[in-house]
Amino acid sequence: MKITRKSFFKGIALGTISLPFLIRAFGGRNFAQEDSTGAPNVLTAKQYRWKMVTTWPPNFPILGEACNKYAELVEKMSAGRMRIRVYGANELVPALETFDTVRTGGAEIGSGAAYYWAGKAPSAQFFASVPFGMNAQQLNAWVIGGGGLQLWEELYRDFNLAPMPGGNTGVQMGGWFNREINSLEDLKGLKMRIPGLGGKVLEKAGGAPVLLAGGEIYTGLERGVIDATEWLGPFHDILMGFHEIAKYYYTPGWHEPGTMLEFIVNKELYDKLPADLKAILQTAAAWSSNWVLSQMEAKNAEALATLLEKGVAIRKFPREVLGQLRQYTEEVVADMAANDPFSRKVYESYDSFRKKAANYSLITEKEFYDKIQKEGELDLG
Ligand code: CA
Repeated sequence: MKITRKSFFKGIALGTISLPFLIRAFGGRNFAQEDSTGAPNVLTAKQYRWKMVTTWPPNFPILGEACNKYAELVEKMSAGRMRIRVYGANELVPALETFDTVRTGGAEIGSGAAYYWAGKAPSAQFFASVPFGMNAQQLNAWVIGGGGLQLWEELYRDFNLAPMPGGNTGVQMGGWFNREINSLEDLKGLKMRIPGLGGKVLEKAGGAPVLLAGGEIYTGLERGVIDATEWLGPFHDILMGFHEIAKYYYTPGWHEPGTMLEFIVNKELYDKLPADLKAILQTAAAWSSNWVLSQMEAKNAEALATLLEKGVAIRKFPREVLGQLRQYTEEVVADMAANDPFSRKVYESYDSFRKKAANYSLITEKEFYDKIQKEGELDLG
């Protein structure tokens, strides 16, 4: 290619002339700022080799994949200055050590969901999901547009962490049951795999929440060790095979109406990063937020069609049952707020936003679902 002055400047404008070419052609010094050694920064820029620990099994569909793609994006956007090696749960540390590993610098960045850290900071749960709380759209609105992120940053600052929203599962399903839930009586003695606040609420209703690791749920349900389990939504649930061994698939996931995922960065290291790499990490997280929710919605819609073809019996929780569970949830959350001042502060922000968002959703989204979309679609009565 013969470079004329005219084609050169045109090339710059279009970004079609490679940086190595420019450095070769012009000795670099005319273009890149020099550091104290006189070498162009572009060649001596500090290289970052980071580790990401995650709460997800290696390459876990969508949630783990998002971490791999995050790392690829960061590497591309930084032209290789930052490379992140992603570790699934137990590859470097167990899933639930992600928070402490990043906080103490054993890894620079992590991926998970804030409710896993409820034992360290109860209010963290508001930044993942609370029963009868906000859905993905509303939670994104609160975190990104309604002051939630500032509270999240304030909470995590004490742990030397910088949080970034990283995705959302959307409204989860209520779970797989081997007994029908027609009244509150049917929850009494129900042995269900349901973690977190949802488990506490079930306990108040007379049920027995059971803790089982992901790999133990299928056999637990098959052998009657548990009567029910929640997991995620149709796409991930089919992969677990629950439709082969459970009678009913209940909706909605009252316990997880939209679980937000997070990236956490060691704050001391984050603060030292140059501004462009900070922006790259933020931008990759924003990309992940959008990608995860979009994938969840797309794959769940496809998987629901598959489950319907298989004749899976989908059931709705009765209104009376949900009403009582909501009541118990309010008691559980009030307890939490009474015992932890920061939970109280976050809850006040969360709940005041939730009420406004609910009103807005009622006159927009709900009208859409009830009046525009409902006709001709799946009707469970
Ligand atoms: Ca779940």
